[in-house]
Amino acid sequence: MKFEEPVIEIIKRAYNVKSFRFKKPEAFDYKAGQYITVTLNSNGKKLSKAFTLSSSPTEKDHIEFTKKLTGHEYSNILDVIKVGDNALISGPFGKMTFEGEYEKIALLGGGIGITPMISICKYSTDMKLSTDIMLICSDKTEQDMIFAEELEEMKRQNPNLAVFNTLTRASENWTGCRERICDSLILRELPDYAERVFYVCGPPPMVDSMMEMLHNMKIPDSMIHKESLIGY
Ligand SMILES: Cc1cc2nc3c(=O)[nH]c(=O)nc-3n(C[C@H](O)[C@H](O)[C@H](O)COP(=O)(O)OP(=O)(O)OC[C@H]3O[C@@H](n4cnc5c(N)ncnc54)[C@H](O)[C@@H]3O)c2cc1C
Repeated sequence: MKFEEPVIEIIKRAYNVKSFRFKKPEAFDYKAGQYITVTLNSNGKKLSKAFTLSSSPTEKDHIEFTKKLTGHEYSNILDVIKVGDNALISGPFGKMTFEGEYEKIALLGGGIGITPMISICKYSTDMKLSTDIMLICSDKTEQDMIFAEELEEMKRQNPNLAVFNTLTRASENWTGCRERICDSLILRELPDYAERVFYVCGPPPMVDSMMEMLHNMKIPDSMIHKESLIGY
């Protein structure tokens, strides 16, 4: 489906991350984990990029995508967009979806790759699913952690949701984990990892290294869903 909608809300998530909301057309159906493409006009030029939806299909009034602003061309156009400005949206696309079909899942999100995981967590929470979810988020610094309040609220509502954060370049005040996501972290935090279906999302090098790690841990491809944020 292709549709043009004005931005209805812009939410600053971090110093370099913003979420953009649009009214959800009634006919637009998507699954948690899917992505859209967003086309913007700049000086007569049309630029398109892919974004996983950070909203959940249970949110009937809006859809949302969340963009890390990199200082490059597309980001700079998006950064000055205002409520009321139009965007051309196509979708939904993507096979990394979750509809409640598994009893236990592990979500591995690298940086902005947390966006589809937020959709999956919100969907599971709103639908009151019994799926046991462990979300492992890897970021560089405290400033890069996004959706922390939203996840706290989801954890209050959903006893089956657990969140684990690791920061690879944290300040000295950070008392939590500082490792990259690796096999020893998975063995320690997810002793039942062999029973879980894995979802992996992040920049291509992160997804490639997670795939290598999961293969070394003898997790079959049939137990892994992934989305590479190509373009970083
Ligand atoms: C399925 C899918 C889902 C995605 N979901 C998300 C999401 O939820 N959130 C998100 O933020 N991103 C997501 N992405 C990535 C997104 O589509 C963009 O590719 C990415 O955010 C980079 O955007 P940009 O503004 O830097 O783009 P651009 O301006 O096109 O820049 C892209 C890259 O080109 C290079 N580049 C561009 N201009 C210059 C320059 N002047 N000098 C040097 N290098 C330059 C840089 O490496 C830059 O990072 C997704 C990608 C895919 C494929």
